[in-house]
Amino acid sequence: MKTDRGTRKGERIFAGVIGAAGVAIGPAHVCEAGALQVPEYSIAKNKTNLEIERFRAALQRSQKQLTKLKTKSQALRDAAAEEIGYLLDAHLLMLTGSRLVRGVEETIAAKRINAEAAVLSVISEVARGFESLPDPYMAARADDVREVGARLIRNLTETPFQGFSHLQPGTIIIAEELSPADAALIDPDTVAAFATVLGGAEGHTAIMARSFGIPAVFGVTGLLGGVKTGETVIVDGTSGRIIVAPAGPTLTEYEARRQALERERRQLGRLINLPSETVDQTQIGLQANLELPREVDSALAMGAEGIGLLRTEFMFMNRDAPPDEDEQYESLAALVAAMGGRPITVRTLDVGGEKLAYSLGQHIVESVNPALGLRAIRLSLKQKKLFEAQLAAILRAGAHGPLRILLPLIANTGEIRQVREILARVVRRLKKHKVAIADPLPPLGVMIEVPGAALAADAMAAHADFFAIGTNDLTMYTLAIDRADEQVAHLYNPLHPGVLRLIQFAVQAGMRARIPVSVCGEMAGDSRYTALLLGLGVRDLSMASPCLARVKQRIRQIDIAAASMRAEIIMSQADAGRIAALLDDFNALA
Ligand code: PEP
Ligand code: MG
Repeated sequence: MKTDRGTRKGERIFAGVIGAAGVAIGPAHVCEAGALQVPEYSIAKNKTNLEIERFRAALQRSQKQLTKLKTKSQALRDAAAEEIGYLLDAHLLMLTGSRLVRGVEETIAAKRINAEAAVLSVISEVARGFESLPDPYMAARADDVREVGARLIRNLTETPFQGFSHLQPGTIIIAEELSPADAALIDPDTVAAFATVLGGAEGHTAIMARSFGIPAVFGVTGLLGGVKTGETVIVDGTSGRIIVAPAGPTLTEYEARRQALERERRQLGRLINLPSETVDQTQIGLQANLELPREVDSALAMGAEGIGLLRTEFMFMNRDAPPDEDEQYESLAALVAAMGGRPITVRTLDVGGEKLAYSLGQHIVESVNPALGLRAIRLSLKQKKLFEAQLAAILRAGAHGPLRILLPLIANTGEIRQVREILARVVRRLKKHKVAIADPLPPLGVMIEVPGAALAADAMAAHADFFAIGTNDLTMYTLAIDRADEQVAHLYNPLHPGVLRLIQFAVQAGMRARIPVSVCGEMAGDSRYTALLLGLGVRDLSMASPCLARVKQRIRQIDIAAASMRAEIIMSQADAGRIAALLDDFNALA
């Protein structure tokens, strides 16, 4: 279908960046910040300054969000840009040294209550003041005040949108932004697709959409205010377009497209029981990435040989306190049982950056630059109790089936050494208490996702039992492109020669050290890249389950000798555009 056709009568078209491919048609559900649960508790006198600091951090976050929304709105038509611009300016003004801000700080100090409760109290008072004004325009400002208050409270409590379970099946979610924690609440049987104003195509929310197999479009300028709950919406995750109130012929076209994609999916499903091997019979390991335990059934149904990346963040999201060792053990043991002897690579906690977990609030102080801050293994090595509980849970679950331990964001060998020491301590404790643990101990591997780690891959290989190459972060850090920022999404490119050289370097270092090397970033799940990765020597791939069949289809067309020759030519190129052309030409030969 042509995607550049004009707008038909009555319909409205918005453009964004592709987060997850596919087509969905359904009624919109527009997420409003809405009625939030506001906890109220008292604060000790000597802690009120800390509480004011917490409020100021939320204030800053709110200001940043509004500024970002304003920048985006400037891309709209003149009149719309002006109107939204005024509104956002008014919201920003309320958050800048205003009566509201002063009022909240004074209330925290005077009443010694938490920031959320103080915001609610001041907001209600200011809104009532507006409502009592005789001028209807001024009276209507009360809604703005409440909206600003809801944003502040949402940023203070890090409240995810209320579960989406009350929605009717086939609903399309429209939101300003969805965090990975919000996305974790999405049930793909209910939600057909989603589209947001903020967020990039390589962030974890996009990864979740791909895992759930639902289309998603991000960075859609003008979306909020452009759609009402209940209106019919088409999410075209293949071209990155949202069509609101589609005209009859548009609906017919897209319905045909949706059905064609469904037929294609069913055809690919026939590959599930065929071996994952190339034309020259080289076996390629195909495993699944898991965000949430409930995905285990679909991973098995799609023929995954194991779980090549278990993102354990899910255990810490959407809850008030982190899970203890026993709860983590039970969760992991259930997965081990479900996998029936197939291996699971459990990655230790990788929060921080865009992946925040409210339950870890007291452990994470917002960094100036979160992607470079106290996240992933750095947080684990600082919060040793938290880390020890997770390691103990993994070791105990490993008594029931094959597990490997994977460390995120490793930058130097000292970190691996520290983990080994902690692990040995945990093993001693468990053995002393006669607790059953994995025997032999699980292999300890590292993510290669920091450029410095890739360049020092030989040294890393001397300390690690296996490598898992994380192309998402590797691309982000190599090119200095925030993977979750839609403003720079067009610059994110894993085919940049710098990224490819790091991948090649790491693969070769792993081979020299004779340790297993897999790729588990999103590149692994995109069949466009399969020949290149195989040509570079990769033999194990782990990806979102819905991608497994298509990648297997591609593997079965590839001859390793030809792919290696093409990879060699590609690696001699300096330009990402030329590399893409050489790869696409090779793929077209299939
Ligand atoms: C990666 O960075 O490529 C990766 C697999 O980890 P995550 O996407 O969870 O950061
Ligand atoms: Mg990563």
